[in-house]
Amino acid sequence: MLKKIRIGLAVLRTALTGEKRPLSVTFSVTDRCNLACAYCSFPERGSKELSTEQILALIREMAAAGTKRIGFVGGEPLLRNDIGALIAAARTAGMFVSLTTNGTLLRRRRNDLKNADMILVSLDGPQEVHDLTGKAAVNVLLADIAVLRQNNVAVCTSTVLTAPTIEHLDSLFKISADVRLPLAFQPYSYEYYLSVAKTKEGSLAPSPEMFKSAIKKIIQKKQDGALVANSYLYLDQIKEGVNARAQACLAGKRYCFVDTNGDVYPCSPVTGRLRAPNACALGFKEAFRQMPALSCKDGCLFPCYLEYNFLFSLSPRSIINVLKTIGIR
Ligand code: SF4
Ligand code: SF4
Repeated sequence: MLKKIRIGLAVLRTALTGEKRPLSVTFSVTDRCNLACAYCSFPERGSKELSTEQILALIREMAAAGTKRIGFVGGEPLLRNDIGALIAAARTAGMFVSLTTNGTLLRRRRNDLKNADMILVSLDGPQEVHDLTGKAAVNVLLADIAVLRQNNVAVCTSTVLTAPTIEHLDSLFKISADVRLPLAFQPYSYEYYLSVAKTKEGSLAPSPEMFKSAIKKIIQKKQDGALVANSYLYLDQIKEGVNARAQACLAGKRYCFVDTNGDVYPCSPVTGRLRAPNACALGFKEAFRQMPALSCKDGCLFPCYLEYNFLFSLSPRSIINVLKTIGIR
């Protein structure tokens, strides 16, 4: 509770002063993955990873620069043998720690995860849909999630709205209700975001009409009491898909993305598009200061960043939504 109050005060102070401060850092700790999802090109990049010592040093520098939340991503971050030490170091530094995983290594890594505040786990639908991406058996995944929650770690899904997932939304909501697991949705295609990531198009892509009607259904389900982690603000925003309204963006001002090699970007959708300063070469604080500003006039629909924009703008609806989601065990 004390940590949440401290984070809330830091967000408030930064919003009031308007200063540039890396309140939240999304940190890719590996490109490696043990899966090959159709909508992802991360594992193909093969970037050189930072060592344990380099990442621990960066975590200390981030804390000194005012970082209050860190999200470990990949690739599959649980492939790193040192992930437990990285999570523990971020927690010791007073940060809210989240990690995004495909869920296949939860059992093997559960001791490493007990210091995390929140885990986002891929769940695409009932077993027949989950099988399309080669992820763990759903019943095994749910058992592993239950163990995490017994350790007081909040869990919510990371659910990509592919066509098969949309077709099985009712089954997904039933799983969510049965085990009280919040669902966090995101669009299928990086074209929805403005990303340079290569999208491997295929039969998984929903039509714009299918996507729109799925978002309407998710909004209705949330209104009916279903556990949907996305805020209404976010869902309303993405409903129109590529035609959605622009959103003022705080990337590079309140949050940033540290790539696998230590390069610092305002956000992951622009990875490789800018000349990014490197946190190991310059120190994190200086790299964040030197990072080029972006003025994306059209905004983008990248899910977590849109939610940050609402949260760091102190939108009351966003704050209430976040507090509700991280309170569910
Ligand atoms: S599990 Fe995640 S990192 Fe791995 S291929 Fe799928 S989306 Fe990419
Ligand atoms: S709108 Fe924001 S999050 Fe999206 S690409 Fe531009 S700077 Fe990045």
